[in-house]
Amino acid sequence: MAGIEVTALHKRYPDGTIAVEHVDLSIGDGELFVMLGPSGCGKTTTLRAIAGLERQTTGDIRIGTTLVNDLPPAERDIAMVFQFYALYPHLRTRDNLAFPLRAEGLPKAEVRARVDEAARLMRLGPLLDRRPRRLSGGEQQRVALARALVRRPRAFLMDEPLTNLDAELRADMRTEIKHLQGQLGTTMVYVTHDQVEAMSLGHRIAILNRGRVEQIGTPLEVYDRPASLFCAAFIGSPPMNLMDVEVADGKLRSRGGLDLTPPPGLPRDRDLVAGVRPEALEVTAPGADRSIPARVVSAEWLGDEIIYVVDHGGQRDVRVRMAPTVRFATDTRVGLRHTGATPAIYDVRTEELV
Ligand code: ATP
Repeated sequence: MAGIEVTALHKRYPDGTIAVEHVDLSIGDGELFVMLGPSGCGKTTTLRAIAGLERQTTGDIRIGTTLVNDLPPAERDIAMVFQFYALYPHLRTRDNLAFPLRAEGLPKAEVRARVDEAARLMRLGPLLDRRPRRLSGGEQQRVALARALVRRPRAFLMDEPLTNLDAELRADMRTEIKHLQGQLGTTMVYVTHDQVEAMSLGHRIAILNRGRVEQIGTPLEVYDRPASLFCAAFIGSPPMNLMDVEVADGKLRSRGGLDLTPPPGLPRDRDLVAGVRPEALEVTAPGADRSIPARVVSAEWLGDEIIYVVDHGGQRDVRVRMAPTVRFATDTRVGLRHTGATPAIYDVRTEELV
């Protein structure tokens, strides 16, 4: 097993597209590290460079203590799982699993032992004698994962491996991957554009945007204190409300007149924006204590919660997440108040946390 160091990675494709501007990553031995970001941000290119499937323009990649810049994929001792499972259609599950081991020339008994172990871990016992076309999508993906496992690589690289599965199966497989990674303790780099997947899987998450890392942190850090306005707008569903704020007499107030809990030492001479999570706000009856007047634009009932969109004091589209116990109809006059902790404050000019 091994950690992975990516230093000053830059990738320019032959047609001139700069896929990765500058990426530094320091992934710990045994870590489940997620790369998250919108389509085209450079996640896959970074992962393929680590795998050796794409040659970086500049920058270094180390797996363990080995500088692997010039090593072909097969010599990097990593296993990759893609969105498309690429099983051999004519081989039974057992032979699909054994294939990479036989290719390495391992003795028969060793091949059998490793296939049995991977089949046990991924619960493939009943499927060992079936060919891929007789397996469901989820089963095929489990075989693909097991095939990565049998090699006992130093690291797993996963590129959106669950994208083609339906929602329920995806959730199950997510749990399975997390459990497995914990059991094996093998370093894993996992690429996704799905923030729920990133939050639930990652020990740490790197948020990428336009070929750069915007933030690296635990799921909690990334959720509580997004490092930039980009991260604030990207993480959370619905994401943070971004409100223009002013500091006066030690108070922090939105342009719409909503009082927020100010963090200490806020600068006065800069234009600031507060990032307020929808669950840190509350829709109240009109005139309730500490509330300001607002109007319900829409209410989306999701079963276990309601997402209100409200207008207040000239700021439109403020999103509020609440338990469905209190209901306010669309177009009614209500109150709006801040109930949560200190919000994240951003400098409008730098777009970064103050
Ligand atoms: P997605 O989630 O859509 O897969 P991504 O974050 O993984 O996106 P990459 O696939 O790394 O992004 O692509 C980053 C940028 O590089 C994109 O603008 C993409 O169009 C471009 N790109 C990717 N592969 C090539 C290539 N072979 N030649 C030229 N440009 C490419």
